Amino acid sequence: ETNIDVLKDNVKSHVIMIRHHMDTFFTEDKTQQTYSEEVVQKLAKELIIVKREAEALREQLEKKRLQATHDTLTRIPNRLAYDEWISQEHDRFSKYDTPFVLMVWDVDFFKRVNDEFGHQAGDKVLRIVAQMLSENIRDADFVARYGGEEFVIVLPGTLQAAAMKVANNIRLAIESCAFHFRDKPVKVTASAGVCEIRENETVEELFERADKALYKAKGSGRNVCIAG
Ligand code: GH3
Ligand code: MG
Ligand code: MG
Repeated sequence: ETNIDVLKDNVKSHVIMIRHHMDTFFTEDKTQQTYSEEVVQKLAKELIIVKREAEALREQLEKKRLQATHDTLTRIPNRLAYDEWISQEHDRFSKYDTPFVLMVWDVDFFKRVNDEFGHQAGDKVLRIVAQMLSENIRDADFVARYGGEEFVIVLPGTLQAAAMKVANNIRLAIESCAFHFRDKPVKVTASAGVCEIRENETVEELFERADKALYKAKGSGRNVCIAG
């Protein structure tokens, strides 16, 4: 009996101990759980902030990229963008023999516009010309302001004859834009040199050829497109 009593006590104390351990375990587990939840919440908040920052940086980067590749006056691509575009087009031509055409455009007697109507009128003409060029080409084509009153257009997968039609359409669109500055009509025309890429020709040689054709267009009285 004594032994049983001792045994009972023993068992009792063990049960108490086990219960105590379990209580401690559950309390600790609860604390641990609360702590984990707090950490998760904190991390989630930080993640939202980081995501927002990344988004802002991405937008900034996109803005910078647009600024670097676009002309501020006309909002069309600039010479840097042209250099990249034509080099890619030329690579495609070298690898797959896909033809393309380069047009070099120049506004006729543009200095006169500036002299007679002022720089502001000149700027407006450049914006209109850029708009005319952009509106009269397809989505796959590329237009850029090369500098001053010179523009370039690249027509991928296009042959000379088709490009000449496009060029003359653009020329007519510019000629009939009926531009007015302070209620006064200002005659605006442009000329172009149009060249399809040739076998073994570099981008620079192609540009040179188109520029020569443009020079001929100027010599033949302007408001004309000449094939190079
Ligand atoms: P041509 O018919 O032979 O092309 O004669 P042009 O007068 O158009 O050519 P020229 O090269 O003599 O004059 C170009 C003028 O373009 C001179 C320059 O002041 C003007 N110009 C260049 N960039 C800008 C610009 O961003 N805004 C304005 N308003 N004028 C510009
Ligand atoms: Mg010029
Ligand atoms: Mg000019």
